[in-house]
Amino acid sequence: MSLEWIKPAERLSALPPYVFARLDELKVTARSQGLDLIDLGMGNPDGPPPQPVIEAAIAALQNPNLHGYPPFEGRADFRHTITDWYHRRYGVELDPEVEALPLLGSKEGLTHLALAYINPGDVVLVPNPAYPPHFRGPALAGAEIYGLPLTAEQDWLIDLASIPDTIAERAKILYFNYPSNPTTAVAPRELFVEIVAFARKHQILLVHDLCYAELAFDGYQPVSLLEIPGAKDIGVEFHTLSKTYNMAGWRVGFVVGNTQIIQGLRTLKTNLDYGVFSVVQAAAETALKLPDSHLHTVQQRYCQRRDFMVAGLAELGWQVPKPQATMYLWAPCPSQLSSADFALRLLQEIGIVMTPGSAFGHHGEGYLRISLIAECHRLQEALNRMKQAELCYCSTSNTPDLQTRPPISGMKN
Ligand SMILES: *Cc1c(COP(=O)(O)O)cnc(C)c1O
Repeated sequence: MSLEWIKPAERLSALPPYVFARLDELKVTARSQGLDLIDLGMGNPDGPPPQPVIEAAIAALQNPNLHGYPPFEGRADFRHTITDWYHRRYGVELDPEVEALPLLGSKEGLTHLALAYINPGDVVLVPNPAYPPHFRGPALAGAEIYGLPLTAEQDWLIDLASIPDTIAERAKILYFNYPSNPTTAVAPRELFVEIVAFARKHQILLVHDLCYAELAFDGYQPVSLLEIPGAKDIGVEFHTLSKTYNMAGWRVGFVVGNTQIIQGLRTLKTNLDYGVFSVVQAAAETALKLPDSHLHTVQQRYCQRRDFMVAGLAELGWQVPKPQATMYLWAPCPSQLSSADFALRLLQEIGIVMTPGSAFGHHGEGYLRISLIAECHRLQEALNRMKQAELCYCSTSNTPDLQTRPPISGMKN
């Protein structure tokens, strides 16, 4: 029996359903039917963290002093490691006492930052498409979200000139993310400079998500917001250990940058959580201190998968651009179906999970995000199934390109 008067708060019902949750449901159903799914849906890296990280965690677990509540602001050692890392990677000097705060993963911080700074009705600028917490966090806080449409024609870069002055004047925060999930776009330094000037002019807090800072290829080096002169006066940058170090389940990330902005987030968080388990902080420290050769290994892994998949898809007639960074491909939907319907049919008919672009905002429609989170032999299996299904992957095709057909043999576990 469901009780009529038990209703979630309006802030919850205002949110669209979490798309990954819906995909998850369908995946559970497919698995329960015995299908061997190839899941290229979520941004969830495969494989364990580097061995030294595991060993550091085991050693820390044996330390009787690391099992209590950690300090709210994180362990001093970890904060120092974060700012040392930042200096090594970006040449930016930060004060470990007040310009770095460990987080329970960056999603937590990105969302709570909105709760710490947004009053209902405040305008928040968010690119569309975007990583969902960039708009869901502000939506939870009651923000009026002003979407900044991104397009392939503009290389998925934010067009500041398209923002009306009346909106810029009312805007409180701008969220952005390069290298970008989901579009895989990277932004030139000049765009960062323009964004900083824009934000200073209109008194807007800048929130940059540099989650894919380390997953860059072909010699490309991503830009940190904090490298830009003046950025630290108005901005913060979020990082995570989830992607680079395969630590997604450990829940550890951090925010760096403007002291005042970080302080507001910290005040909110002291009312919500007790911070990152000390053992996880010790492991994360070890990760950040790994030699650059580790980063090269990770970069090579994703670069190899990128090349393999882009070439394999091209053989099927599906032309997908080669990204310079991230662990994704952002592939034009090769069908007249909506990206969601196409993704659904891929899942139901050949057991392959890709994320419809519309999950990231309506300007993502027409694209699919393919996560490179499987070894090449699994990617090959995905390509085989797609070939066997005789789908037509030419986006110019006028013929109905996905016909209902029985599940492909060999897909059963
Ligand atoms: C994966 C991802 C994160 C990481 O979130 P965590 O909560 O740190 O695991 C943050 N931002 C973007 C854009 C991502 O794709």
